[in-house]
Amino acid sequence: MASPRDLLSAAKAEIQEIEPEAAVTRLNSAVFLDVREPEEYEQGAIPGAIPLPRGNLEFQVEGRLPDKDAPVIVYCAGGVRSAFAAQTMGLLGYRDVTSMLGGFNRWKDQGHPWTTPQTLTPDQRNRYQRHLLLPEVGEAGQQKLLDSKVLLLGAGGLGSPAALYLAAAGVGTLGIIDMDVVDASNLQRQILHNMDRIGERKVDSAKKTLTAINPDVTVATYDVRLGADNILDIIDGYDLIVDGTDNFPTRYLVNDASLLKRIPVVHGSIFRFEGQITVFDPYNGPCYRCLIPEPPPAELAPSCAEAGVFGVLPGIVGSIQALEAIKMLLGLGDPLVGRLLAFDALEETFRSFNVRRDPQCPACGPDAGEIVIAEYDELCMPHPKEGPPPART
Ligand SMILES: [Zn+2]
Repeated sequence: MASPRDLLSAAKAEIQEIEPEAAVTRLNSAVFLDVREPEEYEQGAIPGAIPLPRGNLEFQVEGRLPDKDAPVIVYCAGGVRSAFAAQTMGLLGYRDVTSMLGGFNRWKDQGHPWTTPQTLTPDQRNRYQRHLLLPEVGEAGQQKLLDSKVLLLGAGGLGSPAALYLAAAGVGTLGIIDMDVVDASNLQRQILHNMDRIGERKVDSAKKTLTAINPDVTVATYDVRLGADNILDIIDGYDLIVDGTDNFPTRYLVNDASLLKRIPVVHGSIFRFEGQITVFDPYNGPCYRCLIPEPPPAELAPSCAEAGVFGVLPGIVGSIQALEAIKMLLGLGDPLVGRLLAFDALEETFRSFNVRRDPQCPACGPDAGEIVIAEYDELCMPHPKEGPPPART
């Protein structure tokens, strides 16, 4: 019968090992895999290391490290667990695995860099478990969402599903601006609100619903009209804006302010049975003025209150806005930057159109003047930095 010492000798005979002073030179070229227990990892770890306790290795390593040719340096506290882990990974088909001699203790004693990782609580680990299982999100991505701040313009048809899903996904700070009160005619589509909230401020109703879904979320409310006098202060510090507004002057105001502050905007709009979604990433893609240089005449652009909107439609469009917001926050996949996604509910079709930056754009083009934030009239044209306001006819 083999003793533990025999097993260790057998493992060491099959694997490569590396001293910490050599491993530190590979911080940027190899993946560091930390196979200690979560309590050990939380007290200090090699920067950027992927935590995966030895006990979970066999069943989780392929999800966490899909590339079996990538160089991996495995470490534990003293170099024993990592030797067994390296042996197992070799059997699983990993071709370039090295165990670090002396483990994290020797690494630390030699003065190499380490950090105290931000970690999720046991409740958060449970709540976000389906995210943690996705290597593209994982603990680092979830932590990033918890540290993110998203501002929702409107707690109505689009803002409702967007806010619900952003809160559920664990976006740590949600700002909501809306100056309306809940009306029974909202409940056909605005699922943040309910019968008990009729007559209540929409932002207060939204906050109650969102904090009931996820206690990790801090909700900041702005029960004001978004205007030239307050927009720069309100959007300051947010990582991203989800625009669910329904009128042209506000959209142009949001566009110009977001360019100035360089905050991406996930835009959504709905009309009767149709919806549109795109992402305006300041100076990395087109802006709202590149897409719609000037608003259509008022008689061609009736509001939802005048034209009607099909139930469920804002749920689809607002949910896609939430999806795009999370992709932008995590840097995942291909966001709708430079693309407009159009949904037709009656045909049940999605179409995607390319949208380019307009070199003549008066807001983001190379010859655009300095952006001045001011109230917009029905023409919504940018304001010159100097000179009298455009004459009204
Ligand atoms: Zn533009």
